[in-house]
Amino acid sequence: DTGQWATPVILEKRRSFTGPNLSTAYRAPLHIVRGFGHYLYDETGRRYLDTVNNVPHVGHQHPEVVAAVQRQAGILNTNTRYLHTGLVRYAEKLAAKLPQGLEVAYLTTSGSEANELALRMARTITGRRDVWAMDHAYHGHTQACIDISAYKFKGKGGGGQPLSTFLLAAFSEGVVQELSRLKHVSAPAAFISESILSCGGQLVPPPGYFQTVFEAVRAAGGLCIMDEVQTGFGRVGEAFWGFELQGVVPDIVVLGKPIANGFPMGAVVCTREVAEAFNNGMEFFSTFGGNPVACAAAEAVLKVIEEEGLQENARKIGMVLRKRLEEIQQKVPFISDVRGHGLFLGVELSRGGQPAPEAGSYAINEMRRLGVLMSTDGPAHNVLKIKPPLSFDEAAADRLCTYLEKVLCAYPY
Ligand code: PMP
Repeated sequence: DTGQWATPVILEKRRSFTGPNLSTAYRAPLHIVRGFGHYLYDETGRRYLDTVNNVPHVGHQHPEVVAAVQRQAGILNTNTRYLHTGLVRYAEKLAAKLPQGLEVAYLTTSGSEANELALRMARTITGRRDVWAMDHAYHGHTQACIDISAYKFKGKGGGGQPLSTFLLAAFSEGVVQELSRLKHVSAPAAFISESILSCGGQLVPPPGYFQTVFEAVRAAGGLCIMDEVQTGFGRVGEAFWGFELQGVVPDIVVLGKPIANGFPMGAVVCTREVAEAFNNGMEFFSTFGGNPVACAAAEAVLKVIEEEGLQENARKIGMVLRKRLEEIQQKVPFISDVRGHGLFLGVELSRGGQPAPEAGSYAINEMRRLGVLMSTDGPAHNVLKIKPPLSFDEAAADRLCTYLEKVLCAYPY
């Protein structure tokens, strides 16, 4: 007995016992039972190439991470009110990967919780509420995160833009004018952005963008928060953190998803100055945040990234992919852009200057039929996103591009 139920049974139980807005990928949902490296396996044993899951950062079920979790789970898992080597050893190792000055860590259980904490810090320190955020961005599912996530509050079921949220158009050329207009209408507690917009459609900022914004925000008395939940830990290849591509150093960095290879964890890392100013008497405590098992998983992730040269792999395979995708672009008239860094790439589909989400939906469903898992993103759902586990190799890149070319060239354009 594998303990697995048949797909129709799971679907039925899901309908009966979980909320209807718990969404699944694909029209006919996949039933995945096992993962390894950059492959996932369904209930029939069929293998899929995974080009989209960025949480199993060093590879699904990486043996070193699995062993670290198993070892620690068998010894101790409790909250942070007792001293434990694992937490402080991880915090020190994490600080060593960040630019000097970013050295104080708060460990949480998710990216949302970490963003929520970062907002609380900025609001406590400045005594203000306003947040300047990027249009189309997503920062998490808690109410405070939804309130700064245009992707949510402007979307289906969203309650509209809160009075305390001010949006910058996604990496617009006119940012200087936008900032000078904003400073007359809002005193920001913080500016928050991802270093490459994921839900915004894998959008890369133009050179100098964050420098311009950081200067304006700091001049207006606000703190600068970078949400590295998707772009951190070597994924962008040329740098360990996405914001380093822009040569800026934020006051607060938010981490999540890949941090512990799938074990629930998030983190906020800030300067000593921010940490001291935040210490206003109200304690910080998260029952599961920074538990010994999560810290063991996270420490193993840093070790594997180092041992297996995964940042360099992201750079190298990212370049291979980029080149192949640009070649495909020459043959497919509705690929309007190929962009990104390392293993964080986007392929934008448009026709006649208009987004082509139907081509995206066709592509991901056809690719799934061929055994390759992909997904779309962007406000118009017309950007194929590629952000696989960093174990992705040349054979995987070749398989992805060979199939993608076939599928896109066959599309009745
Ligand atoms: N920030 C970004 C950029 C994200 O992509 C996500 C999750 N998709 C979050 C925050 C929220 O993280 P979590 O789902 O772990 O709460």
